[in-house]
Amino acid sequence: MSTNEASKGEILGRCLCGEVTFTGKGQVADMHICHCRVCARWGGGPAFGLSFTEGIDFKGPIRWYNSSEWAERGFCTNCGSCIFYRLKDNSVFSVSAGALDDQSLVPPISSHIYVDCKPAYYEFADSAPRLTEEEFLASIANNKDGTGTS
Ligand SMILES: [Zn+2]
Ligand SMILES: [Zn+2]
Repeated sequence: MSTNEASKGEILGRCLCGEVTFTGKGQVADMHICHCRVCARWGGGPAFGLSFTEGIDFKGPIRWYNSSEWAERGFCTNCGSCIFYRLKDNSVFSVSAGALDDQSLVPPISSHIYVDCKPAYYEFADSAPRLTEEEFLASIANNKDGTGTS
């Protein structure tokens, strides 16, 4: 697998086994950490959701799991890597930051969401804004560009 060489304007990544590959298009738009219970059960801890200004192209054996009325999550059917999150209306499509080949391209955290659901056994040291579930839902009601969760 040689997925390390990005052509200009492309940010590449893959699942653990390499059968699923993706390209983030445009620029990195947002990097948020979700502390909700759905993300914790899905990936074993908080979700590192990275989105791109022009969306994400992907190839390979992805299966979509219907995680809520409004969202679904994509994982590799071969190795089980939890990679994609998207709203069913396609207004949000994010990828797990750890799946990017070049980790130096992941920007600083822009926000934490669902912090009232965070368990006590971990803390992040950054100073990005922290939103509770209620604050987060209010922010996306006011701003259609918001990122979704669950
Ligand atoms: Zn895989
Ligand atoms: Zn979540």
